[in-house]
Amino acid sequence: MRIVIKVGTSTLAHPTGLLNIKRVEKMCKVISDLKNAGHEILLVSSGAIGMGLGKIGLTKRPDDISTCQAAAAIGQCELMYTYDKLFSEYNHTVAQILITGAFVAVEDYGKNLNNTLFRLLEHGVIPIVNENDTVTTEEIIIGDNDTLGAIIAERVNADLLIILSDIDGFYTANPFEDPTAERISVVEEITPEIEALAGKPGSKLGTGGMITKIKAAKRVVAEGIDMVIANGKDPDILYEIVDGGGICTRFIGRRD
Ligand code: ADP
Repeated sequence: MRIVIKVGTSTLAHPTGLLNIKRVEKMCKVISDLKNAGHEILLVSSGAIGMGLGKIGLTKRPDDISTCQAAAAIGQCELMYTYDKLFSEYNHTVAQILITGAFVAVEDYGKNLNNTLFRLLEHGVIPIVNENDTVTTEEIIIGDNDTLGAIIAERVNADLLIILSDIDGFYTANPFEDPTAERISVVEEITPEIEALAGKPGSKLGTGGMITKIKAAKRVVAEGIDMVIANGKDPDILYEIVDGGGICTRFIGRRD
């Protein structure tokens, strides 16, 4: 299977903004193992700004965009250094792809991106994709890394997009606000009723919440790609998801 895995800051970092070493090490180990089993993996990874802020000793995200962009530049190095080091332990090679939405929309640049991604996959490399936060004003153009995950999954014609979040899947309501909310295991069709369950955008400061994830699901299922939302706290869940199971929500790609 060709799998795109989107991993957010909440999975990669502690609330301090510093790296969650245990979790990231485990995630790289599981992904390496899945690759050894024959799967092709692409990672869409956030975390650069948080890591950069941690590195320059800022515990809170500043209001000014320039400091965030500077933090992204610092943190992106740390992020890639970490991935390179951890995947190298299992003899896997990584490549950094920084995407600027405005450029990808230009046909020639979009084609170049596709060619590069496919060539990397041919060479057995794990592409690690992020939006180029140092030149775009922080996720403004593509919007968020859920959408970026969907764009990459479409471009490489993936079989599966996995979105690792801080929650076990998509619920009938936001479980942090409604204790009676229940997880939906399988979504065969993204109806307006399903979309309405995603809550309001920006319901949690600085994150896309479920709205961007449902939008990503709509995009990829229309292309016949399955999408899964699962909790990234234990990366072992990736094995179960790849086998078609696991505690998660699975959006079924259209087969017609
Ligand atoms: P990430 O940073 O991993 O992308 P987000 O914080 O943006 O995750 O989105 C996940 C959050 O979305 C959950 O922690 C929850 O607070 C919120 N949420 C809103 N509506 C729902 C819903 N219907 N089901 C699950 N989570 C929801």
